[in-house]
Amino acid sequence: MKTIVFIGAGISGLSAATCYQKKFPGDKIIILEKNPVAGGSFVSEQKSGFTFEYGPRGVLKTSHAFFHLLNETNGWHLLKPGKKTSSTRFIWYKNQLNQLGGNPFKMLFAPAMKGVIWSALKERNLKNSCTDEDESLESFFTRRFGSHITKVLLDAFISGVWAGDISKLSVRSAFPSLWEAEKKYGSVIRGLRAGKEESKRKKELELADFPHPETGKSRFYSTEGGIQNFAKHLAERFGDKLKTGGSVVSLLKNEKWEVELSSGEVLLADEVVFSTPASVTASLIEPVDQALAAELQKIDYAPVVSVNLGFASTGTHQQGFGFLIPKIENKPILGIIFNSGTFDGVSPAGGANYTVMIGGACNPDAVKKSEAELISLALESLDSFLGIKEKPVVTGVKLWPAAIPQYNVGHFKHVETITSQTSKHPGLHLLGNWKNGIGVNDCIKSGFNWVKSLN
Ligand SMILES: Cc1cc2nc3c(=O)[nH]c(=O)nc-3n(C[C@H](O)[C@H](O)[C@H](O)COP(=O)(O)OP(=O)(O)OC[C@H]3O[C@@H](n4cnc5c(N)ncnc54)[C@H](O)[C@@H]3O)c2cc1C
Repeated sequence: MKTIVFIGAGISGLSAATCYQKKFPGDKIIILEKNPVAGGSFVSEQKSGFTFEYGPRGVLKTSHAFFHLLNETNGWHLLKPGKKTSSTRFIWYKNQLNQLGGNPFKMLFAPAMKGVIWSALKERNLKNSCTDEDESLESFFTRRFGSHITKVLLDAFISGVWAGDISKLSVRSAFPSLWEAEKKYGSVIRGLRAGKEESKRKKELELADFPHPETGKSRFYSTEGGIQNFAKHLAERFGDKLKTGGSVVSLLKNEKWEVELSSGEVLLADEVVFSTPASVTASLIEPVDQALAAELQKIDYAPVVSVNLGFASTGTHQQGFGFLIPKIENKPILGIIFNSGTFDGVSPAGGANYTVMIGGACNPDAVKKSEAELISLALESLDSFLGIKEKPVVTGVKLWPAAIPQYNVGHFKHVETITSQTSKHPGLHLLGNWKNGIGVNDCIKSGFNWVKSLN
């Protein structure tokens, strides 16, 4: 019987451990988590009848990893589908909300969509002019689709998902399917169309594995009572194998891996699996392998603050998922999420629930404000963008100093070096959102694939 220690109980660690336990039921599993509760970035709070999300608020149905994990853990009763309107999203451009998704007519005439169809048609016939081994998103999109799509649509999308800087993020690592589409088909649009047919066939197969009626209801999902309940559900299944409220403070390799906790206790393990942020993994791994630690330290993170605001009156209610703002608009926030436009039951009857996202790689100093300043910035933003002047009945602020890893140009090389360096240490495994995608689905999939690769 092997002893395997998982360090970090965010979604990456919880998914990997869930899958590992199923495949190797005879092994002894221990999961170590610094915080008093499992979940990592999954932080939900119930406040005066509002459900506040400070980290992820849900998963898109672009992959079925989340459903798969619910299925594996008998968690279907928790599934919460987003409202129909949650697929209506907006971009703030030219002093107005530009609708993307939902009504196609409204979308076509939005200033943000100007020339988009023409650029997409033109892209099909452009030559494959990619020569470098990696390229920034800005350079790739400008080359393929022109500056409007890049600076308005792409930039807004990237602020929302990556809190990132398009001049630094790598197309090869952040959007491998687009990078490969150009390489293989000479055009992103032609490549995506070809890939779509294939993934449609795959998805139909995947969906057949998930006959649950709720999976057809929406494109966006969370769990009842907030997404942290999903982590809680996964965590509970481990019972006392999961130890919360104690950091791992050092790691040594002698005959076995020696994992020291903040309490002074030392655990001996045959294998260790890290799913902590890259800088934490780096500092713990340094005494074992300095070169590996140095490579992990090269991965940058962007800071984000989530300011949650709950309002009592219906007059403040907005339909849809929310809006993002491209850099060229020069505004002090990344965007606003309309939580009560996305999910039912996240505010008391008639109320409205918003999250204002602040900071990101392009505006890191914004997160240095005091809590009072951040709330006031959020309220000013609700007024100036949406005309909401009412006072909130409840607020909540959370700073994520290292919210999202940035897959900057050359990221693939760091990952290659880290992977080859890790393979020199039998029994050492590195996972986490810095490796195979930042989305919740990506983290789940990464854990599953890692377990699949084990004999
Ligand atoms: C504000 C925000 C909004 C987001 N929105 C979405 C979204 O809507 N949809 C989506 O798909 N994705 C979203 N993401 C991304 C996604 O949530 C994350 O990429 C994912 O949850 C990361 O999971 P993880 O397990 O890799 O890392 P983490 O969640 O960071 O987990 C790492 C764990 O390691 C623990 N740890 C650290 N140090 C130690 C130590 N020394 N000893 C023991 N334990 C330690 C931490 O406490 C933590 O629990 C969002 C992220 C943020 C921050």
